[in-house]
Formats: sequence, C-alpha cells, structure tokens
Amino acid sequence: MAYKIDKDACTNCGACAAECPVEAIHEKGDVHQIDPDTCIDCGSCESVCPADAISAG
Ligand code: SF4
Ligand code: SF4
Repeated sequence: MAYKIDKDACTNCGACAAECPVEAIHEKGDVHQIDPDTCIDCGSCESVCPADAISAG
C-alpha cells in the first residue's frame, strides 16, 4: 500500500517531494499527490510534512 496525502490538509509546501527517493510525489493543482505505482513505502515523506497530511495507505 502506498502512502497517501490528505488533500484537505496539504499546504502545497513541497517538503515531501524533496524527500522522496523515487520522485513519486508531484504537484497537482494546489496540492501534492503521491503516485501509488511509484511509491516504495519508505515513509520519508510522512516524517517531514509540517501539516501532518501524509499517512500510510
Ligand atoms: S509536505 Fe505535507 S503539506 Fe507539504 S506538500 Fe507535502 S503533503 Fe503537502
Ligand atoms: S513513502 Fe517514500 S517512496 Fe512513498 S511517496 Fe513517501 S517518500 Fe516517496
């Protein structure tokens, strides 16, 4: 299961995308999204999100 971003909580800061080792996170509209087919479940993004918007799927 891939990690997920709560789009209602995401402030679009980009911190998660900078941490992702496989570039699975991209800006879409006014939030960031995780591509579930690319995510390797490392958890790095979850720990850096200042809005606590990321959780394991
Ligand atoms: S780190 Fe959190 S608030 Fe920032 S873009 Fe990623 S999910 Fe959104
Ligand atoms: S869990 Fe790891 S691989 Fe998946 S989106 Fe977050 S940083 Fe990228």
